[in-house]
Amino acid sequence: MTQVPTGQVPTVIVVGAGNAALCAALSAREHGADVTVLEKAPEGERGGNTYFTGGGFRFPYGGIDDILRVIPDLSEAEQARVDVGAYRDAQFRDDLARVTDGLIDDGMASALVREAAPTMQWLHEQGVKFTLMTGRQANEVGGKLVFYGGLTVEAVGAGKGLSDQEFDAAERAGVNVRYGAKVVGLLRDERRISGVELWTDDTVERLEADAVVLAAGGFEANIEMRTRYLGPGWDMAKVRGSRFNTGDAIQAAIDAGAQPYGNWSGAHAVAWDLNAPPTGNRIVADLYQKHSYPYGLIVNIDGNRFVDEGADIRNYTYAKYGREILQQPERVAFQLFDQRTVGLLRDEYRVRQATMATADTISDLAEQLGIEPAQLEATIEQYNSSVQWDQVEHFNPSTLDGVSTDGITPPKTNWALPFDSPPYQGYAVTCGITFTFGGLKIDPRSGQVLDSEDRPMAGLYAAGELVGGLFYNNYAGGSGLMAGSVFGRIAGRSAAGAGR
Ligand SMILES: Cc1cc2nc3c(=O)[nH]c(=O)nc-3n(C[C@H](O)[C@H](O)[C@H](O)COP(=O)(O)OP(=O)(O)OC[C@H]3O[C@@H](n4cnc5c(N)ncnc54)[C@H](O)[C@@H]3O)c2cc1C
Repeated sequence: MTQVPTGQVPTVIVVGAGNAALCAALSAREHGADVTVLEKAPEGERGGNTYFTGGGFRFPYGGIDDILRVIPDLSEAEQARVDVGAYRDAQFRDDLARVTDGLIDDGMASALVREAAPTMQWLHEQGVKFTLMTGRQANEVGGKLVFYGGLTVEAVGAGKGLSDQEFDAAERAGVNVRYGAKVVGLLRDERRISGVELWTDDTVERLEADAVVLAAGGFEANIEMRTRYLGPGWDMAKVRGSRFNTGDAIQAAIDAGAQPYGNWSGAHAVAWDLNAPPTGNRIVADLYQKHSYPYGLIVNIDGNRFVDEGADIRNYTYAKYGREILQQPERVAFQLFDQRTVGLLRDEYRVRQATMATADTISDLAEQLGIEPAQLEATIEQYNSSVQWDQVEHFNPSTLDGVSTDGITPPKTNWALPFDSPPYQGYAVTCGITFTFGGLKIDPRSGQVLDSEDRPMAGLYAAGELVGGLFYNNYAGGSGLMAGSVFGRIAGRSAAGAGR
């Protein structure tokens, strides 16, 4: 916790202006600090990866009453139309542990699970409006929209809406924001971090403060760091979000003695339109993603399947399948659907930017998309012969239905319907990297950055995607924004000297 002489207003610098940074800024301001946010991007490109998100937040709730705490204006008719189920603390905890192969830092997982619901409430009080994720996280079952996969609420207006609402809240609270301010180093006063060195277009400045909160994202947009830490081939991945997240603040903190932590060779990466631009487009935003693959088949350019499309609810597989796609010939894959399931495809399949083809025969579909036709026909024939027809009537898109293949590798463990109803649709995708998992080590109770001997670094705090320890190998959809808000709020409070 920052020590400030009695009667003096603490000064806090927040580096970055995404969700984690603005939560830290709001929290520090709430606890009486004078807060300056330094954002590398110009104002027209502000908001970091947060701007590109779907705005989905994962948090535990016991039922509709808890949802109403963050969406109080949900009408009775809307409530009657949906089945949000429940997503308990223990499920959240289990999901975090399961998808990270048990590697998640225990202290961080506990803080995230414990603080998630109160932090949603706090965001709501800051003026962030939420709504149900009916479009993406629910399917019509028995006359109701049934939610699945522990992800039920999104910010109104998705990522852009979230970012704009957080900037509005920061402005109302009296937070100063400077754009075009790139932090390149940390200042010291003896062992304490006492400020930052920043570059503007034409100047170098040194800004002093009682505390610094780093929330400047991962290194996914830095081609050299990506290749160095994630490995060969990652230089060729497309970046889904901000071009400004180049790992500067991680590097500055390590140079000042901070401890690297977490899964430095790991990243969140998904199926992303083959013809998407090299970095995020602020209009199309996350609509280049293609996340309905559990209801179809995925093949490579040789016509072979290479993953279990139905291994789990998509929220628990999508972030690791980007890596699988990157490893395929020419880094390309194709998601195929027939008329049995096209009606289930999410909104992102209907944008005009989608690289797709429609055909009445498998060979025509293959020809149009550039897949090896004879092998694709053979793959689909083999897949169809492994479908268990007696299970088909139990197909349920909102749960792990157990409708599986028998006798093929890789199997399809759920939602394995026959692929036999033309016209067929195929979507061409490549690997889109979202963010990197490695970062700095913090004390999850205070958000304070730890040095390489696990000692808290005086005056230095961190939150968001530049913190390591939460995600290993994989990720549970909606936990990035939630973690950024939880640890941003904690870091801001501590940086203002308010303690736990
Ligand atoms: C397409 C897409 C969809 C996503 N959808 C979701 C979703 O629905 N739910 C979810 O939980 N997560 C989602 N994510 C993940 C999500 O982006 C993050 O978890 C979250 O937005 C990260 O917030 P952050 O504040 O850590 O980083 P960011 O929002 O990226 O903010 C980092 C900021 O730091 C600034 N910066 C970088 N370097 C410097 C520097 N040297 N000096 C000053 N400023 C600097 C950047 O310009 C940026 O503004 C999605 C990501 C993408 C790309």
